[in-house]
Amino acid sequence: MKAIIVLALALTFTPAASAQNQLKPPTETAMERFLRYVKIDTQSAEDQTTVPSTKKQFDLARLLEKELKELGAENVRVSEYSIVYAMVPGNLADNSKAPVIGLIAHMDTSPAVSGANVNAIIHKNYRGGDIILPNDKTQVISVAKNPILKEMIGDDIITADGTTLLGSDDKSGIAEIMTMIDTLRQNPQIKHGPLAIAFTPDEEVGGGIEKFDIKGFGAQFAYTVDGEELGEISNETWSARTATVTFKGKSTHPGTAKGIMVNAMYALADYLARFPQNMLPETTAGRVGFVHPYTGVADVEESNVKVLLRDFDLSGLDAKEKTLRQMVRLTQRRFPKVKISIEVKENYKNMKEVLKNYPQLTENAMEAARRAGLTPKIKPIRGGTDGSRLTFQGLPCPNLFTGGQNFHGKLEFNSRRGLEKSTETLLHLVQIFAEKGK
Ligand SMILES: [Zn+2]
Repeated sequence: MKAIIVLALALTFTPAASAQNQLKPPTETAMERFLRYVKIDTQSAEDQTTVPSTKKQFDLARLLEKELKELGAENVRVSEYSIVYAMVPGNLADNSKAPVIGLIAHMDTSPAVSGANVNAIIHKNYRGGDIILPNDKTQVISVAKNPILKEMIGDDIITADGTTLLGSDDKSGIAEIMTMIDTLRQNPQIKHGPLAIAFTPDEEVGGGIEKFDIKGFGAQFAYTVDGEELGEISNETWSARTATVTFKGKSTHPGTAKGIMVNAMYALADYLARFPQNMLPETTAGRVGFVHPYTGVADVEESNVKVLLRDFDLSGLDAKEKTLRQMVRLTQRRFPKVKISIEVKENYKNMKEVLKNYPQLTENAMEAARRAGLTPKIKPIRGGTDGSRLTFQGLPCPNLFTGGQNFHGKLEFNSRRGLEKSTETLLHLVQIFAEKGK
């Protein structure tokens, strides 16, 4: 088994990195590690006042703490918020010549689907066709909806059994970072600077990163390893605002309402009818932003609607806000007795606003993917990430692929190659930073 792994690694590295052709394998493959981590239930929970939102996330945090120590990491610690921090020392003649690079993955899994008793199924040497999950045959990973499957013939695909999620999001990222550290330890000939490592809780419920100690972490730049398809690198997220539009009417007893009652719901209905059909989440994709009325109250006395505004460009976001305000004016003209107001709040900004000043982060990640034999592509994230928050707090942080697919659902999957190629990319990435220096 070991000989096969050596051969596989040797074949996957480019000739330019010929010194790596004699790489010793890690003590445990990325796949073996991944299969161990997904067995640990780390589901986070919405609307909790504590971080972590669920105590069970400490189970994985403590295990990772132990394993990081065994792999020679230094200053390994778990904070009271269940954040695991560690430092992998550099092995350069002068480690101060290379920047400290951070690698971050999250431990929790989505509250949307159970992550307890995950029974990972390995579909060895995949021959093509739809994958029916054995314990709930209505759960089918179809080629029609997952055309990536056509590129995965011969790979060992990992799925859940149809009753839970897999937890690839983001135990893939954790397994890949840990396997990278393991491989570095086996191969001191791979030169790298100091690496700051962190595993975080509550990414899925958006609470963990607020407790992140950027200073203690000690990195100048970092990457979240939390993306999807092989080769996809993200240095852009939405810029996001939320609007609340309030409609104030007048309620009276309906029996004596003539000439008095002002029903705010009609103004709300009029406002909703004005939303541009080509600017909604259900009609947009790629780089096109949207406005999305997502919740509200319909009542005679006071109605309201909350609206998400999303765009990659601040100018596009401004234009959307202008549209919503113009719609208020039009509805107000039609319903003069209803008092209409709009309030817009900023949620987060596209991390590109900061990352454009650090082009080497994206360039080095693309070069690392290329050296791993992949075709890098920049994919803007139609959402926010922990990295976008860190970026604005002073730690520039793009997002790297993990090979995983179909996050947050029972149809989640990854593969042996997905895990190995992502690990290999991380190994190249830390070397590129060492080669290029500060
Ligand atoms: Zn994730």
